Amino acid sequence: MAKYSLTIAHLYGDLMNTYGDVGNILAMNYYAGQMDTEIQTTLISLGDDFRETDYDIVFFGGGQDFEQTIVAKDLPSKATAITNFIESGGPTLAICGGFQLLGQYYIGADGEKITGTKSMSHYTKNQHDHRFIGDTIIQDEQTGEVYHGFENHQGMTFLGEDEAPLGVVSEGAGNNGMDGTEGVHYKNVYGTYFHGPILTRNGDIAKHLLVEALKRKYPAQDFSAFEAMEIPATF
Ligand code: GLN
Repeated sequence: MAKYSLTIAHLYGDLMNTYGDVGNILAMNYYAGQMDTEIQTTLISLGDDFRETDYDIVFFGGGQDFEQTIVAKDLPSKATAITNFIESGGPTLAICGGFQLLGQYYIGADGEKITGTKSMSHYTKNQHDHRFIGDTIIQDEQTGEVYHGFENHQGMTFLGEDEAPLGVVSEGAGNNGMDGTEGVHYKNVYGTYFHGPILTRNGDIAKHLLVEALKRKYPAQDFSAFEAMEIPATF
């Protein structure tokens, strides 16, 4: 029996899973094993109840425009709970389409506007006959950590005033190909366009998510040893 346990809500994992984003859960399991922590994952999809207090981590993967329109119809039933989770400091990982849908809106390649959960202030516009595809490298300006990934999106995301980017782009397009930002870091939310999956290539982010979740669930415990854990580079 592991000493600690955490629960992950995998939002719409049956619809939103481009480039094997589910690998992020495998990576969290892997690093959790090094923290004497057991993880239980629950798939929360269309029509399912999402009670934010039941979960320690939320994961929302990427998706195609078609699946995003289906998911968007179900989102209003979960939007308040998702926002509460985020606002209360809930560790969250959102990739590409999932990152887009936690914002104000997403405009698909065909011009259709989809409403997000509006949990965060970013918004995503469309571009005509073009996608950002390729390898990306960014640096988190706060920690100095460098993250590697792969992006494939048509959406151009613009951050709100209260949002910081996950990193500054040194290779690739990032959020919109214009302002040099990639992803978002807001409270304990990591939003990004990185597939790969991001956590298998950038274990430091898995570590941050897990340590935040442990600190939140076990406030009397000291997790500084886990925080200090060296994560070997995997790229
Ligand atoms: N459909 C969205 C876009 O093209 C998201 C893509 C993705 O999740 N890979 O921008």
